[in-house]
Amino acid sequence: MAAIQEPTVTFGVLNETTTDESRVALTPDIVTRLRKAGVSCLIEHDAGIAAGYVDNDYEKAGARVLDADAIIAEADALGFVGRPDEGRLAGIKPGTWVIGMLGSFTDDQYVAALSKTGLVGIAMERLPRQLSSAQSMDEMTSQNSVMGYKAALVAANAYGSFFPMMTTAAGTVRPAKVLILGAGIAGLQAIGTAKRLGAVVTAYDVRPASRGEVESLGAKFLDLGLDFSAGQGEGGYARQLTAEEQAAQQAAVDEKAAGFDVIITTAKVPGRKPPLLLTKAGVDGLKRGAVIVDCAASELGGNVEGSSVGTQVTDGGVTIIGAPYLSSEVANTASNLLARNVADVLAHFVRDGALTITPGEELDDALVVAGRPDSAAQAGKA
Ligand code: NAD
Repeated sequence: MAAIQEPTVTFGVLNETTTDESRVALTPDIVTRLRKAGVSCLIEHDAGIAAGYVDNDYEKAGARVLDADAIIAEADALGFVGRPDEGRLAGIKPGTWVIGMLGSFTDDQYVAALSKTGLVGIAMERLPRQLSSAQSMDEMTSQNSVMGYKAALVAANAYGSFFPMMTTAAGTVRPAKVLILGAGIAGLQAIGTAKRLGAVVTAYDVRPASRGEVESLGAKFLDLGLDFSAGQGEGGYARQLTAEEQAAQQAAVDEKAAGFDVIITTAKVPGRKPPLLLTKAGVDGLKRGAVIVDCAASELGGNVEGSSVGTQVTDGGVTIIGAPYLSSEVANTASNLLARNVADVLAHFVRDGALTITPGEELDDALVVAGRPDSAAQAGKA
């Protein structure tokens, strides 16, 4: 970030509109960091409280604490963990930048609402993650790391036995057998955490490259005897499997899953509905007392058939926890990381003391989903 004398851009953060969100898109240390980039910060009363920051922490760092209307009236850019709901969007003045997880891959209507209100939409989910200069802006990576760590703790907590082997005077308890499906950023953290708790961990991912990463953490790679390597997605990411491939994968996962006590699923394909990995037959084949944590559960569906956000226990005694919210449960650290990601995206767009979009610049082209200077030409890409 280039140091300049007086702030010329104003960044505001409001309370999140989702009720169960504890994270905040600005933390006190980031107020100081942004000031050096020429940005002054405004924050709504109590916006940081669930993440462990009181108003005075922000004031001491140099931010002004105001009510939402005053922030909306003054801010050039507003930052969110998620996104403002459409009701709030309508009250934001035209020309304001809205930075957050905007859901732009799956919600065209929302992107259209941003454009219609005359707002500039900066979609954190569109960050080109392979770009080394953009790594400090990568909210998917920072939040998925937190989620994977917490998923292992949630699974251990819900499981009715120990994760580690334990020898006691009353007998020896065998270690839990944990299966992680999806060994990306979240899956690798879940592997590491479950291993540190003493479980015997096995993991699977559709990307052949993940085998080495899984094994380097001391876990076993689950061989389904299927090869999806032809056609791995762009930039090393998973691609969506064909219907036949998915059916073969589900049958193999369902069969292998029966030997595990705990299953944590984290599999996603960028911009798509999460793949269904474990069907109802697979869930029914698990032992009574088994625990599943489905981090991909959402209104689009999850990795486990029948999972939904929250906890349910099947007739066969299997606990299924649909838990896409887990990074919010480690709100302090998750916010510290996320606020840095958002601030670095904002600072990227501060040029010569103003928020500026440069058409043709790689990050700008990727992140701006509404309000581009060349929006007529780009309309089809958003
Ligand atoms: P993600 O959250 O989109 O997906 C999670 C995992 O699910 C991925 O590993 C994916 O391969 C897996 N998956 C998808 N479909 C599956 C299926 N049908 N069966 C089993 N697994 C399936 O991705 P992520 O975890 O954020 O990142 C994925 C990869 O991208 C990782 O290898 C990560 O190291 C890499 N990455 C690279 C950069 C970079 O180059 N700077 C940045 C971030 C991530």
